[in-house]
Amino acid sequence: MEQFYTQLSEQYLFVEVSKKIKAKKDIIDLSVGDVRLPLPKAICEAGERAAREMGNGDQFRGYPPERGYDFMRRAVKEYYGDRVALCEDEIFISDGIKSELSMFLDLFLGAKVILQAPTYPAYLEANILKGNKIEFCSSPPDHAVDLVILCSPHNPTGEVMTLTQLKEWVDYCLRCGATLVFDAAYEAFAAEGEVKSVFEAEGARECAVEMCSLSKTAGFTGLRCGYTVICKENRLNSAWRRVKSCTSNGVSYITQRMAECALTSALDGIRANVDYYLKNARIIMEALYGMEFSGGSSSPYIWLRCGADGFDRLLDCGVGVTPGIGFGEAGKEYVRINSFCLRSEAIEAAKRLKSFAQTH
Ligand code: PLP
Repeated sequence: MEQFYTQLSEQYLFVEVSKKIKAKKDIIDLSVGDVRLPLPKAICEAGERAAREMGNGDQFRGYPPERGYDFMRRAVKEYYGDRVALCEDEIFISDGIKSELSMFLDLFLGAKVILQAPTYPAYLEANILKGNKIEFCSSPPDHAVDLVILCSPHNPTGEVMTLTQLKEWVDYCLRCGATLVFDAAYEAFAAEGEVKSVFEAEGARECAVEMCSLSKTAGFTGLRCGYTVICKENRLNSAWRRVKSCTSNGVSYITQRMAECALTSALDGIRANVDYYLKNARIIMEALYGMEFSGGSSSPYIWLRCGADGFDRLLDCGVGVTPGIGFGEAGKEYVRINSFCLRSEAIEAAKRLKSFAQTH
């Protein structure tokens, strides 16, 4: 029996990073990509109402439907609106992308997989656990693989794919019969006119699977709710329905009611929170004038080139970030700065980063 978990690296780096940041007295911690703002009131009220229903004999609910409640799948469909026409049978409610992707990879055991470099570490580790053969490519290669996993807006670089770039990947997957998993965790940060969904690319309905999450869109990192879209033209639509029914019992009624509210009546509230983080990112970016970086304008992340010792030097300036090497070799000259912080922290961090940029 092969035990692929033994191939996972020890998490020394992130443990060390967190220890070093915590040991500092006067530090603004912009390392962990977790949201900071409370949920809009309407979402909490939807949760309270749902909790009360669960205490009422007529309204109590047990296991949720395997693909999610109809009301939630309808809310996702409406959220996509005219951008992408979907039907409810193409939408699967999940408890977030991390676990959904890991379960989805059960359809691709021992597969050849393409990841972007640098990469969100969970993709790498989930594929290692399934015994998959991983390669890193920035554009479609001239050989076939089984699966491509792309993320846009990208974690950690903050870059957004153009429709042309996306279409190249879709065409490649159609040509070689590969599946394209598109992680749209940060779609809410993409600007008007930028790509938000893989289904904007022609041909994607046949080969793509979109995974999305309310974690960053709506501040649900602690609540856990997301959704996966697999169109009817894709043979994996029915396969996923079958596999999901034997790997998960779904997302709680209360959470789905809160998520429904987030994507419908509380849209302005969640949009305001995303705009707040984007303004933080602008404040931070302005301080980095003259330095080389990407992201920040359509992403909560700023990917700053400041050398392999950048993390330690920024720590000395009182700003905690994530060393780029945590996202693979391609990140070793970089750090990731995130803007999921309070405004006062963004302003103070910007002051410190400005002196860092001036002396860099
Ligand atoms: N995908 C990307 C690119 C992420 O950065 C993250 C979280 O940081 C996730 C997925 C995890 O999302 P979820 O909270 O839905 O599991």
